[in-house]
This record gives sequence, structure tokens and C-alpha cells, in this order.
Amino acid sequence: MFDRIERADLNELHFRHDEASGLRAIIAIHNTRLGPALGGCRFIAYQSDDDAIDDVIRLARGMSYKAAIANVPQGGGKAVILKPMQAFDRQELFQAFGSFIHDLGGRYITAVDSGSLITDMDEVARNTPYVSGTSKDGLDPSPVTALGVYAGIVAAVKHQLQRDSVNGLRIAIQGVGNVGYALAALLHRDGARLIVSDADARRVQRCIDEFAADTVAVDEIYDVDCDLFAPCGLGGVINADTIPRLRCNIVAGAANNQLSDDVQGEVLHNKGILYAPDYVINAGGLIQVSLGYLKKPASEINQRTLALGSTLSDLFARSHADNSPPEQIANRVAEALLFD
Ligand code: NAD
Repeated sequence: MFDRIERADLNELHFRHDEASGLRAIIAIHNTRLGPALGGCRFIAYQSDDDAIDDVIRLARGMSYKAAIANVPQGGGKAVILKPMQAFDRQELFQAFGSFIHDLGGRYITAVDSGSLITDMDEVARNTPYVSGTSKDGLDPSPVTALGVYAGIVAAVKHQLQRDSVNGLRIAIQGVGNVGYALAALLHRDGARLIVSDADARRVQRCIDEFAADTVAVDEIYDVDCDLFAPCGLGGVINADTIPRLRCNIVAGAANNQLSDDVQGEVLHNKGILYAPDYVINAGGLIQVSLGYLKKPASEINQRTLALGSTLSDLFARSHADNSPPEQIANRVAEALLFD
């Protein structure tokens, strides 16, 4: 266990089993140098306890890097609640999770993540103030995430294509759910020509009706001849099978963990395709959860989110100067803030 903790530079790993509610939860606090650790709570079934431990450590580490580069006063942490196999009372479970968080004295602040709901955060808030994004806060991260991705796309277009606007560019969006749809609206407003794909036909139709988007089948999006490909659905979509098919100059989208592994970032770089590191370009939601928790106004949240564009411009310039992939530069910048 200590091997894993050391390998990830993790500060703390906490376990809680609560007999009454059936809660089995793990909280990982990766780094608190820049502030208390902030990160969502996953509520999913895991194959094994080991899988849950690996997941929470990996995700907490990712949050440290994301918060550092997004310049918010927070460290990185994450929680997982192992979904019980037997019947359980959801309210009691999340209240018990709230007590677990409270016992850590504010070193970890939770929020919604895969499988957990805003109403679950309301239950957490009964037992601790260390939670962001309850129904009282009314924070929907998706529009802000889309705004950050839009700012990042504008920065990428400027760097790679020497253009000041997306007007007239062909942009392929994979996944037009909460973030992808809001992004499509911003790009359409600026005159981009959109090609979209989504596993959900109703979501595709909405883009046809509202943005006059072209569409392709789910598996054909990689072959679209376009200026920019924006993955806004699943992770792992930039991989050894898909990269040879890409016919774009830029990959910049909202999805987490777009590269199937680090090597793929090098492959994109060597092919001259500019990649906007996912954890930088999609940090708008984190900025909102972080600054919303600190009761900052929406205007400041939007302004700080738009500033992700300048952060990315700097990363692209350094990537060009060092001839290194942008995500490697981003990691170095974050590591200097977290560890030096
Ligand atoms: P969502 O579930 O609302 O939308 C995802 C969409 O992708 C859905 O419409 C789904 O049908 C579609 N999809 C799934 N598989 C697909 C495939 N193979 N091809 C095409 N479309 C496919 O999710 P979201 O909140 O919009 O998030 C999108 C991505 O952005 C996720 O990877 C998420 O982790 C990441 N992200 C979201 C936020 C946020 O604020 N919501 C913040 C940071 C990162």
C-alpha cells in the first residue's frame, strides 16, 4: 500500500466503513500545498477494493494538477463510495459520507462526480460544510466547462492556424451532451461549420435543427476532414487506432483522459497535430466548483475560465519552443507549483 502512495506522491489515504448505513468509502488527499483538496465523489461499483484504491489515487493526483494549472486555491483530492451490492438507503449512505468528510476537518471538499447526484450532496451537507455544488448553490458546471473549452479552441486556432476566429472553420464534435452541445452553440455563434456525432440521435437532431450541423455515424467522426476535432464524449478516443485516421490540425475538446496513454501525445506532436491537454482545457467546471464554494461571483468565474485560453497559449508557445508535446509542458508547470 505504501508503495502505491509513494509512487503517486499522495499525502493521505482514508478509509471508512459505517456498519449502520453500509458505507464503504475511500478519500484520497493528494496535495494541499495550494489549498484544501477539492475533488468529486464517484459512486460506482468496483470489481475489487484494489480497483477502487487505484482509481481514487489516480483521480486525486489528476485533481492536484488540474487545480494547480487552473490557478485555483485548491489542492487535489477525490473520494469513491463503493456502490453496495445489497439494498441500501441512499440518504443515510451520503449522510454517513458527510460525517466521514467532516472528520477530516476541511482538508477535503467534495462535489458531484460519476454516479453521484446534486441531491446526494444535499445529504452530505447535513453533516459537513465541506461540500460544493448542492441544490442550494445551483452550480451547473457544464456551461462553464464549455466556455473554457471554447476559449481553449480559440487559443489553439490562433497558434496553429494563425486565425483570430473560428469563423468558417470546420469543427467536428464527438458527443453533444451537456458540454458538447453548449460548446456547439458557442462555435456556431462565431460562424464555425459543425460536424457532429453522438450515440443519442435526439442530441444529434438538436444540433441539426439549431446549428445547421452536418452529422456522421458514431464511428466515422475520426475520418472527417476538418480543422479541429473536439472529443466531448468518452475518454481514450485518441489512440493507436484512431490517430492514423485523423484529418485535422488540432485536437481540443472537453472529454477527460482523451489520450489512451502518454505515447499518443507524442504521436500527435510528431504528426504536427496540436493537442490541447484535456485537464487544462476542461478546467472550467473545477473553476466554478472551487470559486463557487468560495462564494465568488459568476463574473469572476467566467473571467477566470476564459483565462484558460491564455494558459493554453503559453503552453503552446513553450511546446513549440521546446519541441515537446503540450501535455508534457503542462505537467511540468503543474509539478513546479505542487512540489518545488
Ligand atoms: P454527457 O453525458 O452529458 O455527454 C456525453 C455525450 O457523449 C452523450 O450525449 C453521449 O451520448 C455521447 N457519447 C457517448 N459515447 C459516444 C461515442 N462513442 N460517440 C459519440 N458520442 C458519444 O457528458 P458531459 O457532461 O457533456 O461530459 C462530456 C465529457 O467531458 C466527459 O468525458 C466528461 O468527463 C468531460 N467533462 C465534463 C465536465 C462537465 O462540466 N460536465 C467537466 C470536465 C470534463
